Amino acid sequence: MIATITATTYFTNNIVIHRQVSLARAVTLMDHANAIIPPDADLLEVRSTSQTMLVPAVIIFSVDKAFVPHVPMPTKAGIYRRDRGMCAYCGRSISFGDASMDHIVPQSLGGPATWDNLVNACRRCNEKKANRTPEQAGMPLRFKPFTPKVRLRPE
Ligand SMILES: [Zn+2]
Repeated sequence: MIATITATTYFTNNIVIHRQVSLARAVTLMDHANAIIPPDADLLEVRSTSQTMLVPAVIIFSVDKAFVPHVPMPTKAGIYRRDRGMCAYCGRSISFGDASMDHIVPQSLGGPATWDNLVNACRRCNEKKANRTPEQAGMPLRFKPFTPKVRLRPE
């Protein structure tokens, strides 16, 4: 499957442009300062030899100054939704009740509570990994987590 990603740009004068971009381009665009990645965007699974990455199917650019990109606070529900209820370590689908937020780099090692350091994990993997990095635990991540951004009206 050749995955295409839609990059949508909103301009001030109600002009909206949708573009199809390649995966490689999308990965670069995700880090753009004006990029907005809805937390509930459909995700495409991108496999490389070393790891799988979840890339949103839609990336939004807002040139409209009425909105600014905003990174919401990561929550357990937000992480669960972003990772599609999948355990980042064993890849199993887990129910919200069995899900936990795992710090990739543990808090005890200075790992921050940010979207790129938090993943959805089943209890078994979370306990097995304990206070170790994925490398130390020999538990590689199945996908690289992304940071969602939403459109916010500035004050
Ligand atoms: Zn697991």
